[in-house]
Amino acid sequence: MPSVFALWNAINAQVNVGMGGVAKHRSGERAGRPVGFPRLKSRHRSTPSVRFTTGAIRVEPDRKHVVLPRLGRLKLHESARKLAHRLEAGTARIMSATVRRDGGRWHVAFCVEVDRVQRLPARTDATVGIDVGIKHLAVLSTGTYEPNPRHLDAAQQRLRRLGRRLSRRQGPDRRTGQRPSNRWRRAQTQLGRAHARVANLRRDGLHQLTTRLAGTYGTLVVEDLNVAGMLRNRRLARHIADAGFGELRRQLAYKTLWSGGRLIVADRWYPSSKTCSGCGAVKTKLPLAERTYTCTSCGLVLDRDVNAACNLAALVREVTTAGSGPVAGRGADQKTRPDGPVAVKRQPGTATADQTGTVPPQGGTTHQTLARAH
Ligand SMILES: [Zn+2]
Repeated sequence: MPSVFALWNAINAQVNVGMGGVAKHRSGERAGRPVGFPRLKSRHRSTPSVRFTTGAIRVEPDRKHVVLPRLGRLKLHESARKLAHRLEAGTARIMSATVRRDGGRWHVAFCVEVDRVQRLPARTDATVGIDVGIKHLAVLSTGTYEPNPRHLDAAQQRLRRLGRRLSRRQGPDRRTGQRPSNRWRRAQTQLGRAHARVANLRRDGLHQLTTRLAGTYGTLVVEDLNVAGMLRNRRLARHIADAGFGELRRQLAYKTLWSGGRLIVADRWYPSSKTCSGCGAVKTKLPLAERTYTCTSCGLVLDRDVNAACNLAALVREVTTAGSGPVAGRGADQKTRPDGPVAVKRQPGTATADQTGTVPPQGGTTHQTLARAH
């Protein structure tokens, strides 16, 4: 065993040196939550995936097969027609292909550099404020409510039943060396499929919503939500995770860039719910249970979420008049920090943590195509 330990320590040392910062992340010197030690990645407990960046990666002329290095010709379940069209027209170049097993299926995802036709949103001059929530997934300042389908809630009964079934089967036990039974494996596959279905439904709905929003409005204003922090609320965590706030924001960020629109992210501490969208008065307290906003100054009565969305939409004027940075058609992920009665409290380390994910790749646009491999 000492040799294994020596090897493990060597690997750890390598990781510490190679990554140049695990120690700094651990000590809290780097931004974000301190992380633990690197852990062994077991092939038994992780998602099997492999990424190819060199070699013969191509779509066969029949569009039903792809050719990958080492793996050869793979039959697809879904047609790769759209990708093939782009490749033939010379408007796309495959950068890499990732094969991955997800929810009992093998997928191959192509990372593609695409020459996109520069498009503009249908209503270039229009601004919309988007208030995300659990009751409604999104409430727009136009007064439109986007329903929250709550896919996880819908699947909960089935998930519980499958989980119960799995727990009654003979699973693996590392202490006794017990191997999982075939029935356990089968039950686990079923549970995994059920979870994958929830994720697929959620992803589909979010993509449709964000594509529609980015293709319609020239300017979108959203709140900068501390999703990681909200997930620590144990009464709401499941519902917040099911709604997919973080993913919504991420998709809007890159889709506004594609569509030529712009996304403005309101400061995390901007009181969008507590401000009156009519006169600008700010309430000190507004319980979550109060669903309609009633202004004591001007008598405005409006749905709570519509009021918040209107306030977000109104932030555009502040950004535009303040002249903070280039506000031209390019879709920059702008942050607003309106002056005035806004409590600017920043948690240490959160300022830069959420900006990294939204930076687009240099050069062309990266586009992912999903095809299901046999
Ligand atoms: Zn008012």
